[in-house]
Amino acid sequence: MTEAHDVVDVIRSKRDKGRLSGDQIDWVIDAYTRGVVVDEQMAALAMAVFINGMDHEEIVRWTNAMVASGERMDFSTLSKPTADKHSTGGVGDKITLPLVPLVASYGVAVPQLSGRGLGHTGGTLDKLEAIPGWRADLDNTEMLRILDEVGAVICAAGAGLAPADRKLYALRDITATIESIPLIASSIMSKKIAESTGSLVLDVKVGSGAFMKEFGRAKDLAKTMVAIGTAADVRTVALLTDMNVPLGRTAGNALEVREAVEVLAGGGPADVVELTLALACEMLAGAGKPGLDPADNLRNGRAMDLWRTMITAQGGDPDAKLPTAAYTETVKAATDGVVETIDALTIGVAAWRLGAGRARQEDSVQSGAGVEIHVTPGQPIHKGQRLLTLHTQTPTRFARALEALADTVTMAPCGTAVPVRRDIVLDRVEA
Ligand code: URA
Repeated sequence: MTEAHDVVDVIRSKRDKGRLSGDQIDWVIDAYTRGVVVDEQMAALAMAVFINGMDHEEIVRWTNAMVASGERMDFSTLSKPTADKHSTGGVGDKITLPLVPLVASYGVAVPQLSGRGLGHTGGTLDKLEAIPGWRADLDNTEMLRILDEVGAVICAAGAGLAPADRKLYALRDITATIESIPLIASSIMSKKIAESTGSLVLDVKVGSGAFMKEFGRAKDLAKTMVAIGTAADVRTVALLTDMNVPLGRTAGNALEVREAVEVLAGGGPADVVELTLALACEMLAGAGKPGLDPADNLRNGRAMDLWRTMITAQGGDPDAKLPTAAYTETVKAATDGVVETIDALTIGVAAWRLGAGRARQEDSVQSGAGVEIHVTPGQPIHKGQRLLTLHTQTPTRFARALEALADTVTMAPCGTAVPVRRDIVLDRVEA
């Protein structure tokens, strides 16, 4: 087959700060998927994009080309509107677990294609796999059946969705080209557009435990993703949310499931409840059901009923005892004082080192491993009081986890007025 373009010209054009034509973009993504453009050439192009960026038209075209590289799901047989959410990833971010059944309990179908954790941020599928029997790998027919019968499904994205992104994401991971707004935005949105959700709420995390440490960059990412979604006729809204402090009081798979179930039972930590409700309001509005108070179905048990049905439909036992780690270690306060901050990044790194996360995609995770946080910012504490409990199946992991936690909880002198409440939702972006 004669190729329509020469990849070296495409790379040179972006290297020299040029604009790629729509035709060049369609061709390069397709040729990379077919293996005609090889990894070395795509790595050079990704670095040129990383350094010189892409404009709105290029980003939309790049995204659509990645969507076109694979199959698109079809939810047109469902009688309900669809809504999905995507989080850019954080520490203790178990929000998907209560959010999906909560939104579904109002008659909105929620097809949640999720990922596994990599590095210090956890993955929804790893968390749910802590529930005995629960299965993430469903084929498209099974997924559609559960979505139709139950109204909600959380599963792994099939290999057929945006295969160009799958290949490119793995390449970016090993070529220092992840942290580019056009590349991150097109990567996330290609999977969401291929999934064919009618509406989408993006939870863009900002802070020490997030991809985006600075508010300005997080807002640029949010605006770019909202613009891509809108161009593809997906009603898209983004919330920028705080990720300097971990969400809730746990980081680690089974520990987080337990906390999510507390929220579904009408309790749970205030910040997890607040963010769950904020995202639920946006998803319900996006699906054409504005003005509802999602706190109602947490209180009356409907969200919990849907959770139980959803877990059972995927082979899980919602009543089974969750795994616990065999070994624990506590971190105690060295002085009296007031808790000033609890750093999200180092909690995430410690949970990962304890076995809750993986360094390579093929590694397995320990369901019971992680960190429990016993204090909150603004809380007065005394010397010797428990701050953190570490859980693992492998006690040799404690030393490296404790190293990560050396400066995690910072203390102010007794009597200092540290705010007990932080703003979780920092900003909102819509088209
Ligand atoms: N998540 C994705 O799916 N892609 C990125 O590029 C970054 C985070």
